[in-house]
Amino acid sequence: SSPRNSTARIPRHVRVNTLAWSTEEAVKSLISRGFTASDPFESPKGFLIDEHIPNLLSFSPQTTFHEDPFYKAGKFILQDKASCFPAVVLAPPARDDSFVIDATSAPGNKTSHLSALMGGKGKVGYLFAFERDKKRFITLTAMLSRAGCKNVEPVNVDFLTVDPLDPKYSRVTHMLVIHHIPARKLKFIGAFSLLDPSCSGSGIVNRLDYLLETEIEDDGDQEDRLKRLAAFQILMIKHAMRFPGVQKIVYSTCSVHAIENEHVVRETLNSDEARAAPFSLASPKEVLPQWPRRGLPDELEDPSEAL
Ligand code: SAM
Repeated sequence: SSPRNSTARIPRHVRVNTLAWSTEEAVKSLISRGFTASDPFESPKGFLIDEHIPNLLSFSPQTTFHEDPFYKAGKFILQDKASCFPAVVLAPPARDDSFVIDATSAPGNKTSHLSALMGGKGKVGYLFAFERDKKRFITLTAMLSRAGCKNVEPVNVDFLTVDPLDPKYSRVTHMLVIHHIPARKLKFIGAFSLLDPSCSGSGIVNRLDYLLETEIEDDGDQEDRLKRLAAFQILMIKHAMRFPGVQKIVYSTCSVHAIENEHVVRETLNSDEARAAPFSLASPKEVLPQWPRRGLPDELEDPSEAL
């Protein structure tokens, strides 16, 4: 099929904010509003529970939720399936002694996802949410407040200026570093933290047509831009590796370019920081064992990992 047709087959995803209510309650409410538990590609009012991501619902691509009362009340989070993987893979423990960093947080969908996974209704665990951009930080705090996240401390700071040896962060075990994310490029390094920095955004599904039609040939400018982004991403991951208590780092992007994905992971794993900790790439058995794809076979040291 043409790229346009494949984009049209991507459902609209909604994550149930389990800080506000349960998926069972959400399903009941949707059915009382005329939705049906059925294939969203067969019926415009159909919806299904996702098979990979807990508490994620898929609707027909024509469905919109921006004006929906459940969205406005913070009960629904509008989040693509791909962008739900990082927090699920990071899987921070729901315990009082769980300390987590989201290095690049705004607008905060993954932060609120982590908060929910940590059971943030009360004050379970502690999540530092860093965002360097002032405007985006304001959006982040509004979003966290609407989602009812009680266990998050948003901080308007550049992650690269945060001292890994500051005693405040000595108990951090999990970290997320994100540059957006296509699920098939998801990479997982060693032990606990979320890193989602800025990437080219080439893998965002709504932009896929544009990518396929216009970006397939690399020109010089594009390559330079990707190199600069990759260099920044490497700095971010190495910085994450310097936090002494960190056991698990999830790095993700929403780019389809190996230079921002496999190459970044390879280079950081070969760094002094990775050797000192030490960090290694988690095996497919440890991360989403049911997920069939593991990056681009040509870009992996062991191509059998791709299957
Ligand atoms: N994780 C977010 C979510 O799921 O909603 C999306 C993150 S977005 C891809 C990247 C964000 O990281 C941007 O808001 C950007 O301003 C911020 N950022 C980039 N570099 C940063 C840094 N060094 N320190 C803190 N924030 C940074």
